Amino acid sequence: MSFIELSDIYKVYNEKHLAIDNFNLTIEKNEFVALIGPSGCGKSTLLRMISGLEDITYGNLIIDGKRMNDVHAKDRDMSMVFQNYALYPHLTNYDNIAFGLKLRKVKKEIIKEQVMEVAKILDLGSYLERHPSELSGGQRQRVALGRAMVQNSQIFLMDEPLSNLDAKLRNRMRIEILNLHKQLGVTTIYVTHDQVEAMTMADKIVVMNEGKIQQIGHPRELYYNPTNMFVAQFIGDPDINIMEGTIEGCSVHIGQTTIPLNKKLYTRLDAYQGKQVSVGIRAEDFRTENVYIESAEQKYAGSIELIEMRGDSSILITKFNNTEIAIKVPSNQKFDLNQRIDFAINQARVLLFDNNTGERI
Ligand code: ADP
Repeated sequence: MSFIELSDIYKVYNEKHLAIDNFNLTIEKNEFVALIGPSGCGKSTLLRMISGLEDITYGNLIIDGKRMNDVHAKDRDMSMVFQNYALYPHLTNYDNIAFGLKLRKVKKEIIKEQVMEVAKILDLGSYLERHPSELSGGQRQRVALGRAMVQNSQIFLMDEPLSNLDAKLRNRMRIEILNLHKQLGVTTIYVTHDQVEAMTMADKIVVMNEGKIQQIGHPRELYYNPTNMFVAQFIGDPDINIMEGTIEGCSVHIGQTTIPLNKKLYTRLDAYQGKQVSVGIRAEDFRTENVYIESAEQKYAGSIELIEMRGDSSILITKFNNTEIAIKVPSNQKFDLNQRIDFAINQARVLLFDNNTGERI
């Protein structure tokens, strides 16, 4: 039995709006799970149902073997961290962190000990007597984390905790939260719309769309082995290139070009003979170096329309068969606009999708 089990969970708002549709997930102790998906897909609803702030319409929430559906939020032994920090402006940071403990009438000396301990971990020692308004966004979020930490809960629920921070600070806080997770080992469920955040932080990612689970897996699994086009397009930066192609024998034709496929990797090709499919190729699965070693049929050509410098790499937006594709190259390779380039394709990494269902072929 897993530590947290969500079985056949549904959420219906106002008796008509289905926000969560048959959600099933297990979470092990100490796991860091990220829920991701576009705005409105049901992430917050799910987190709020786990926390007890929202009723579960159907299904079971089991934690440590106990059904929790009807247990009051304050008795669920969870701490929540929100995007907007939810700190009390009239209280000092010390009192904000101590708030939950005071409510529970914990002894003053013990509160002090615990607040000082988390303040040390979070490097907040010199800010405790100030008010939240006197802190930067990152420091405020650390106070909110501190408030969650002193609760000593067995589960952390985090709802877009870094969304209000600028990019640099977000990267730093990401590392801080991961370090905290390593230190404390608290089971964490983390909601974000940012796939980079989920990919870099989580042991397990749940991709959602329109209230339904699309795929559950390790970040690597989602990236290399997406079950459908939605997941392939949601994960990865730049976006995966999607082109229209036609299956013929053991190849896919895209306009004038042909990409041979390894039959072992696509077990359902027979059903798609002569049919249109969507072909997904990630930007790094094109290669512009040493293309001359390829046979003429394995060499593809396009012209560069835009160059996006990213530091270690550049993205070449290239016209290929009348479609714009993104090709990732090391940025020390020099290219010019309108330059014609030859490239090769890593055929083993080509993803095919059914045009009607979006499912992987
Ligand atoms: P996300 O967190 O992924 O952005 P939400 O869980 O907030 O998505 O919302 C999921 C769906 O449920 C949306 O269509 C939203 O409009 C709807 N919804 C959320 N909260 C309520 C509510 N209190 N009453 C009615 N509909 C709601």
